[in-house]
Order: sequence, then C-alpha cells, then structure tokens
Amino acid sequence: MLYSLLLAAATAVAPDAEIKALADAMTAALVETRRDIHRNPELGNREFRTGKLVAERLGALGGIEVRHPVAKTGVVGVLKGGLPGRGVVAMRADLDALPIQEANDVPYKSVVPGVKHACGHDAHTTILLGAAEVLSKLRSRLPGTVVFLFQPAEEGPPDGEEGGAALMIKEGVLDAPKVQAVYGLHTDPFLDAGEAGWRVGPIFASSDRFTIEVVGKKAHGAYPETGLDPIPVAAEIVAALQTIPARQLDARSPKVLTIGSIQGGNRFNIIADKVVMQGTMRTLDATVRREMKERIVRTVENVARAHGLTAGASFDGDGNSPTTNEAALTRASVPSLERVYGKARVWEVEPQMGAEDFAALAERVPGLYFKFGIRNEARGIVAKMHTEDYDIDEAALPLGVRAMSTLAFDYLLRAK
Ligand SMILES: [Zn+2]
Ligand SMILES: [Zn+2]
Repeated sequence: MLYSLLLAAATAVAPDAEIKALADAMTAALVETRRDIHRNPELGNREFRTGKLVAERLGALGGIEVRHPVAKTGVVGVLKGGLPGRGVVAMRADLDALPIQEANDVPYKSVVPGVKHACGHDAHTTILLGAAEVLSKLRSRLPGTVVFLFQPAEEGPPDGEEGGAALMIKEGVLDAPKVQAVYGLHTDPFLDAGEAGWRVGPIFASSDRFTIEVVGKKAHGAYPETGLDPIPVAAEIVAALQTIPARQLDARSPKVLTIGSIQGGNRFNIIADKVVMQGTMRTLDATVRREMKERIVRTVENVARAHGLTAGASFDGDGNSPTTNEAALTRASVPSLERVYGKARVWEVEPQMGAEDFAALAERVPGLYFKFGIRNEARGIVAKMHTEDYDIDEAALPLGVRAMSTLAFDYLLRAK
C-alpha cells in the first residue's frame, strides 16, 4: 500500500485534460489579447501600456500578488498554490517590440509607425497571461508557488539605460520568493505551429557588441608621410579579426565575428583622423567567448602598433551569455512538452547564433528555454524573426498556454 502510494506520488503529473479544456476555451480571448498587444507595440523600457495591461489582467484573476512596475515597466505575479509544496518556479515572457515598420496588411496591423512586434513577444506575453489564468483556476491543487515574470527590454534597453533580465534580477525578482528554476519559450519560424524544440546546453548564442577606434592624424591625401592614415590600418584589422574565429579558437565550437559598420574620413583627398568600427561576436561557450574578447582587443592594438598608430577595442556593457538549458531540468521537463504536443512533434534542435537575455535568468537558476513553433506555410506564415513581415500562426497560442501551465505544474509536483 505504502509502495503504491509512493509510486503514485512519484509519477504524479499535471491534470492534462483540465489544462487542455481551460486553454482551448480561451482560444478566442488569446487571439484577441495577442492582437491588442500586436496593434500597440512599445519599444524596450517604454512598455507602459503593455505593462499596465498585464498588471491589470493578473490582478483581475484574483489570488495573484502583483508587483508593477518592476525594472521600469515590467510586472511580477506570484501565485501561491493551495497545497503545501517546496517548489518555487518562475515563468518568463518579454514585453518589448522592435523599431521595424510593419509590412503585413492584417486587421491587427501595428498602429505605431516604425514599431512592430517582429520577435513574437506579443505571443510570449499572451501565452504567459493565459498560463497565469489556467494555473490560478487550478490553484487549490497546485503544490507550490509560481512566479510570473513579464520582462521589459529583451532586445536591449535604449543607450545609457539599464534594463531587461539583468535589471529584473537586480530588482530581486528571483529572490522573494526564492526561485528554483525558470522556464521560457520563443516563437520559432523554423518549426510548424503544433511543434516544439528543446536542447540540453546552449540553445542561443552569447552576444557582445564592440566598438573599435583607430586613431590617425589628418593630412593632405597627396602627402601621406605627413599624417597617420587610419584607413588601411582599419582594413587590416577587419581582415586580421577573421583569423580569430578561423585560425585561433577551437574549430569545434561555433562562433561568429561580424563588423557591421565602418565610419571614417570625409573627403577623397584628405587622410582621415579616425576610423570607428562596430561589430558583434557570438559564441556558444563561455571560454571561447572570453578568449575571443581578449584576442579582439590584442589584435586591434597590435595591428595598429605595427603601423605606428594607436587603436583600441571596447565592449559595450556586459553582453548576453549563451542561453543554456540545464541538463537535469531539461530532461525532466521534456516529457511535459511531449504530453502537450505529442511525442512526434517535440524535436531536439540545433542551437542558433541569435541571442536572448533569458540567459541571465538561466545563469542564476536552472533554466529551460524552448522553441515554440508558429510557422504555417499554407497560410504564408514563414517570415523570419526581426523582419517587417514577421507573423505567427495564432492557432498555436493555446498550445503555448498548455505547455507553460504543464511545465510549471509538473515542476511543482516533482519539487513537492
Ligand atoms: Zn528579438
Ligand atoms: Zn525575441
């Protein structure tokens, strides 16, 4: 008897049928919420309307303790389950849109010129609101605490401002109650609506933005010996930097180094006094990331020195670490996704070289960030993220709600 009780406890899972019924019943409301947010996109640290909408919706559910604003415009909701349990699990969504003009001619087209939800954060926010509703309805049977994190500025705060996951952490969102694990999802245009993707280890890359300054000395273009020309030096630096990923670092570890901008000089026959270049680097590994940063600085300084000029490279802010899925949490959570999606529609996926500031949360506590399929070729929904025509198949929204609700519920049952 005791054995069978123990067995029952060990294999207890979330009430799948009820979660499905609740999520399916809110399909129309989910579409409406997503369209409302899509129509009214706001840039990072300016999500005033979106944050207010989230705080009001969470407050209206009853039983959720709401903190707002957090980290400028963000919202935290804390749902304490009705059953005793030691688990505290966080679920995260991001609120911000991008400075991109909407090109889709849809009834829910962005009404803000030059701003659009082109990264699916409208869907992430809608799904987490849905999960909060489902879990609050199941509260009496929930053994532990769920913390809902609605985070501003995932795409990066405006220059000179703090923001994003780092600021949420700084303001204590993982501390009281003390969060033990964190889940998040990202819409994925490579997976069909009705599919999900996961992976142990890095799923998104680190990203670091850097600025290179090559200092020269102005002179007439006909008398280069009287000046110091930074332009050929800058050209050599661009070429030399590519030997870092290609020749100096472990070939088995993916990495990218891109110089995206070069500015210098103002006339064809005047030697410039300065060249400023900006770039980004991506890695999947903390060691490779550190080594690449060191070598960028070394290469820039020494190529310039060889020509008798000075140059320096500086990294802007802390950048993003690779978004890394913790092995034990991920393996324990995949069965939850498989119950929601069906085993055949949950894929183990390759990492991407894009970056995601969920990384900061997953560095503090075990995290799982999974890919949420939204592609629908038959309906022409195939655009990639950060494009003017990005869209999602809204039919996937209830699946997202079920996935997040099930992951949280199952986690609390395991932690009980
Ligand atoms: Zn994005
Ligand atoms: Zn995004």
